[in-house]
Amino acid sequence: MAQVVLQQLVKTYSPADKNPAFTAVKGIDLTIRDGEFMVLVGPSGCGKSTTLRMIAGLEEVTAGQIIIGDRVVNDLHPKDRDIAMVFQNYALYPHMSVGENMSFGLRLQGLPKAEIEHRVRDAAQLLGLESMLERKPKALSGGQRQRVAVGRAIVRKPKVFLFDEPLSNLDAKMRVVMRTEIAKLHDRIGATMIYVTHDQVEAMTMGDRICVMREGEIQQVADPLSLYNKPANAYVAGFIGSPPMNLLPGRLQTLGDRLCFIARQDDGAGLVIPLGGRIRALADAHPGREVLFGFRPEDCGAIPGPDTFAFTAIVEHAEPMGAETYLHFSVNTTPLIARHRADHTYGIGQLQTLHLDLGRAHLFARDTGKVLA
Ligand code: ATP
Repeated sequence: MAQVVLQQLVKTYSPADKNPAFTAVKGIDLTIRDGEFMVLVGPSGCGKSTTLRMIAGLEEVTAGQIIIGDRVVNDLHPKDRDIAMVFQNYALYPHMSVGENMSFGLRLQGLPKAEIEHRVRDAAQLLGLESMLERKPKALSGGQRQRVAVGRAIVRKPKVFLFDEPLSNLDAKMRVVMRTEIAKLHDRIGATMIYVTHDQVEAMTMGDRICVMREGEIQQVADPLSLYNKPANAYVAGFIGSPPMNLLPGRLQTLGDRLCFIARQDDGAGLVIPLGGRIRALADAHPGREVLFGFRPEDCGAIPGPDTFAFTAIVEHAEPMGAETYLHFSVNTTPLIARHRADHTYGIGQLQTLHLDLGRAHLFARDTGKVLA
């Protein structure tokens, strides 16, 4: 079994120069299942690379445990952990050929020559590198170099693959290609893979499960669709999705006999949304509560549905994306986005009727950010 278990894992960097001690990872618990593709995602500085580097053994653990398979590896040297890591900068040896780069680790291990050749050939075939084995890294494109770096990891047949933002040096097109290749590779070899990225699209498209991190803590661990459909808090809601979920501040209040979400200014301008169905049931237990009303741009369309709420907004900006157009508008001072089909042009300053799907809306407590349940 190559499951990876993190228990109460802490990393505090010691004070250095004028910098005080800094806790980058604050006691996280996470189980990555055998054969799972787990993505650690979050903004720059949230502690995802530090977590990966602790699993690799490149960073000392301050407290807690890392278990790979059935062994606690806290004190094991990186080379004894049965892991292979692929870095953002590829870390290839420039003076060695592709084949030599891929076989280097195996030669160090003292594996028989025939076995090394066999493994390099298999990996090169898997990654489409057979015709390039004699080339030096400088004669390769960025995508090809990254493939060699992946190949070097594969030939070692590790229990666990660790990827640290491996695609961030590639151009947008190559990123999409390599993202698919790594996902396919996982399907084929079925190894446990832990993948760090700050890109939520990469996370959503590649991960069996995604762990969303913020300031050294885990916000939510779930499969991509659960994260998208049931974010545990406003942070996750605002991080996953492109463009992310709209979050409109306001209050739950009964008006007449209807429970409503009210985002209204003192002068009466704003929005009052009478609540029904599922969202009403959520709101019922929280009368008077300050909330964030969450709705995704794709759930605010041009066509009415069985559970939609219609309102008009002034189009402040329209971004044509090809198949669809992002309409920017605001309620009070909160900027919001609706995604519409690009079947007609939208004039700036024009009044547009929007149909908000209440069946797909979310309510988060304004103070804690947690979803109302
Ligand atoms: P990025 O995507 O920018 O790499 P990250 O989420 O991977 O971000 P980490 O590299 O894990 O973040 O860093 C987490 C925090 O720890 C950051 O605030 C960073 O400045 C700090 N940090 C990282 N390495 C050290 C170090 N050697 N000494 C002190 N602080 C560090």
